[in-house]
Amino acid sequence: MECDTLYTADYLITQNDARDVIQDAALAVAGDSIVCTGHADVLEVLYPDARRVDLGRAVLMPGLVNAHTHVSMSLLRGYSDDKALQDWLQQDIFPQEAKLTPELVELGARFSLAEMIRTGTTAFYDMYMLEDSVFRAADEMGMRAVLGESVTNFFPSIAAANVEEYCDRVRRYAEEWKDHPRIRQAVVPHAPYTTTPELLRLCRELADETGSLFGMHLAETRHETEQCLKDHGLRPVAYCEKLGLLQPDATFFHLVDIREEDALLLTDGRCAGVHNPASNMKLASGVSPVDTLLNARVPLGLGTDGPASNNAQNMLREMYVASLLHKVHHLDPTKSPAQQVLTMATRGGAEALHEPRIGSLEPGMKADFIALSLDAPNMQPVHNIVSQVVFSSTGAEVCLTVVDGRELYRDGIFTTCDYPALLEEIQQALAWTRR
Ligand SMILES: [Zn+2]
Repeated sequence: MECDTLYTADYLITQNDARDVIQDAALAVAGDSIVCTGHADVLEVLYPDARRVDLGRAVLMPGLVNAHTHVSMSLLRGYSDDKALQDWLQQDIFPQEAKLTPELVELGARFSLAEMIRTGTTAFYDMYMLEDSVFRAADEMGMRAVLGESVTNFFPSIAAANVEEYCDRVRRYAEEWKDHPRIRQAVVPHAPYTTTPELLRLCRELADETGSLFGMHLAETRHETEQCLKDHGLRPVAYCEKLGLLQPDATFFHLVDIREEDALLLTDGRCAGVHNPASNMKLASGVSPVDTLLNARVPLGLGTDGPASNNAQNMLREMYVASLLHKVHHLDPTKSPAQQVLTMATRGGAEALHEPRIGSLEPGMKADFIALSLDAPNMQPVHNIVSQVVFSSTGAEVCLTVVDGRELYRDGIFTTCDYPALLEEIQQALAWTRR
């Protein structure tokens, strides 16, 4: 087997089935795929002609997967904090979003993509309005993504005058982005409380018709459950089951107000879930019962949610928050250990994106990986490299981000975006909010 580039580093976290960590390691890459991993001295003999990238005192690991976000909301980072979910949405977020343009959505997306690339995220699952702008940003900046045009029952929206226009938009994206090597579409109704049963059934049919995935916010708060019981006589997950939404291509975000019976319905439907700890804490939505979900064998990814409710797109920080949240919630320091949250952010993310070729560094997998420098004082000494990544890193240690074999970031330089220009452009967000 050929190898174009051989990356070497002090450590390599494979995230394979055995969760092997290799010391004095090498990663052999050919084109968009991983050829093999192993000890550097062995692979150097096997591939003497490969381009060499020696990262030295660093750890190579699978790229992180941000399994739920709204990247364009970087425009509203810090615009409204410290409010309840419904007030935050109704009073501050929705009025600003009503003034969005495709250009602004793309600018916000580019800024978040730069943040994700800079902090070691290689793939993400996004839902927003005017999502074609996000498709363009993800395509040009080289990230892997599942992207969906979000829809509610409130028409006209900034993206569609009525439901027919929404359907046309989804069909157009399906046509424009079919067979893309890194980008896939999802049909993503916003949530049970912003849609009708008819709209949700239509979305499910549209996903089948266009060969798209299906995603939705679900069971985010107790209030949502109460509303769903009042309107439909069912808890949110059972309501989705009744509508035929629990299918193997579906991913549900948040899953906070979840009981064992809900988790078992998700398992029966072979659906994936996404945990969003920082957003759930910041909006005081509650604590997702991740043990209940994982014990029921619901594949669980980790996501930041949008930059307006987090306020970062930094998956290293999200892993740290996730682990600490469950420890203090249960008053049990053995809950959500480092290895578990790292698995959620890698292999779990792969399942949430329905992309089996990412999530671990093994032969035949996509060459989506990152490296963190271990030079900074917060990263030494290294007793346990997984612990170091989850509990000690900040995101600033990321020195290399590779997607599909292509280097998107290395040692301070973005290769797929003019970051200094983007930094100037993002100031437009201030003018937009004051318009
Ligand atoms: Zn969300």
